[in-house]
Amino acid sequence: MGGEEKMMEKSLVLIKPDGVQRALIGDIIARFEKAGFKVIGMKMVWADKKLAGKHYADDEAWMKSLGTKTKAAYEKKGKPLKETAVEVGRRIRKLLMDFISMSPSVALCIEGHGAIEKIRILVGATAPILAMPGTIRGDLSFDSYELSDASGRPLQNLIHASDSKEAADKEIKIWFKKEELHPYKRIDEPLLYRKVK
Ligand code: UDP
Ligand code: MG
Repeated sequence: MGGEEKMMEKSLVLIKPDGVQRALIGDIIARFEKAGFKVIGMKMVWADKKLAGKHYADDEAWMKSLGTKTKAAYEKKGKPLKETAVEVGRRIRKLLMDFISMSPSVALCIEGHGAIEKIRILVGATAPILAMPGTIRGDLSFDSYELSDASGRPLQNLIHASDSKEAADKEIKIWFKKEELHPYKRIDEPLLYRKVK
């Protein structure tokens, strides 16, 4: 297998309810398309509690990792959290489930070379106020830990994007049926994947 095939990846991207309500669907999708990635699945979904609970799974390992990252972010700000990592993760999971089912999201399956990592780079840091300019969260939002905490809601950061191959495989299956993913060629693929040998 050539290197280009090994790194051909699919990622699950959600434009969360804040992105849809702020009419940023087109702008966000355009950024992935312009980077060379191919949208192979797309639909608007108003997640119910069941779907929300599958995506933000009642999984201790995931909640612990979410809580650990969050505790580190608060520690860095000089405002350490007293709860354990799992407690923090569980609390945020509940907020996320309410948020994702508040109004419709747009689910995308996006394919391309190194798609999982590159999409995370295009999306930017979790807290928009800290996200670099040029990233989707950095350019299109200012939400912060302070504002979200004071408001009793999760960070509204426009996007979810799979963070690993394992997560992508699992998440794509949650949001899309096999027949909802469509293989086709982009017209610029001969250039993007050009070979001289
Ligand atoms: N989140 C939050 N507060 C936090 C950490 C995370 O509201 O302190 C929310 C935020 O909406 C984020 C989601 O939980 O997008 C999942 O967290 P994760 O660490 O996976 O961030 P991401 O991968 O989206 O950057
Ligand atoms: Mg994540």
